[in-house]
Amino acid sequence: MTGSSAAELEPALVEVNDLTVTFAGTRWGWLSPSVNKTWAVQEASFHVDAGETLGLVGESGSGKSTIARTLLRTIKPTSGSIRVGEFDVTGFGRSVPRAYRHFIQLIMQESAGSLNPSMTVGQILSQPRLSSRGESAQRQLDRAGNLLVRVGLRRRDLQHYPHEYSGGQRQRIAIARALIGDPKVLILDEPVSNMDVPTQNQVINLLGELQADLGLTYLFIAHDLAMVRHVADRIAVMYHSRIVEIAPSDQIHDNPRHPYTQLLLSTAARPEQDPVIEPERRLDLSTDDDLGPWSSVPHYGCPFVTRCPHAFESCSSSFPEPLARAGLDDAEPDAEGVVMCHLFTEAGRATAG
Ligand code: SF4
Repeated sequence: MTGSSAAELEPALVEVNDLTVTFAGTRWGWLSPSVNKTWAVQEASFHVDAGETLGLVGESGSGKSTIARTLLRTIKPTSGSIRVGEFDVTGFGRSVPRAYRHFIQLIMQESAGSLNPSMTVGQILSQPRLSSRGESAQRQLDRAGNLLVRVGLRRRDLQHYPHEYSGGQRQRIAIARALIGDPKVLILDEPVSNMDVPTQNQVINLLGELQADLGLTYLFIAHDLAMVRHVADRIAVMYHSRIVEIAPSDQIHDNPRHPYTQLLLSTAARPEQDPVIEPERRLDLSTDDDLGPWSSVPHYGCPFVTRCPHAFESCSSSFPEPLARAGLDDAEPDAEGVVMCHLFTEAGRATAG
């Protein structure tokens, strides 16, 4: 899925700045309840250009899906700003404008399972709420038939029920349902998880074709960095609520700068299959991680500090400012993107000796 060159000339379609999301709950102690706050996302900033695919990668609980749901506005941001197209998403009140619900759609692993089993595919795809055009049910049904063909099914599948199809085919129906409203942005949250590899490849290829044909913009969320590398133009890596590195996919793969990105790559790749990952880059994944998926305290320092073999004093006290990857050393003069790591600051270089 490659972004169009025209996209580089246009302003970003999705712009997220300093996004923080916290959740408040109640924890019962011995005598009384106390407010229990968790920081799911902290000060995340990124953009997605029109026609581009940005991969968002990290372990379960790192905050990826919270970002997705905040973009969809099913979760309210605690602070920061989100603009998607002309929509000021952070400015929405209690109800999300209908036009925005058509503008951005979600496809996830469970989408195939969320198709109403008592409705035919035609009934599912012709529900008036899905259409952004105010057209009749019959007209929408006609368009749904065309979309089914576009996603690799047949027009006559409109008369069948979801249970008559395989998981991969149901995901195609879910993709057709997401496209009925003419969205411009698709959030793909682990869209091919739990599929066999051939089916994964088919669905990935289909998503690439749809992007090229319809000019769609994708935020592709997954935990598998090796897979995302093949579908994304750029990749943002998340760890424990923080984005720690953003760069073009090939550069992330060929020269990961953040120690956590290196860890992700070294565990995703079999060394014999991927000589790019040198032994010294492979960090110890067996290290205990005592932070849990979401933190009950904000990370003032780097969240990777308990696992990082390069950690030094500054790492616990402040989260690193984004540093341009191009200026880190002479090894990669054409580098793009940013890395958030104290290792590349003056203090880090001095510590490393
Ligand atoms: Fe390691 Fe420090 Fe860089 Fe975090 S900021 S990844 S702890 S060196």
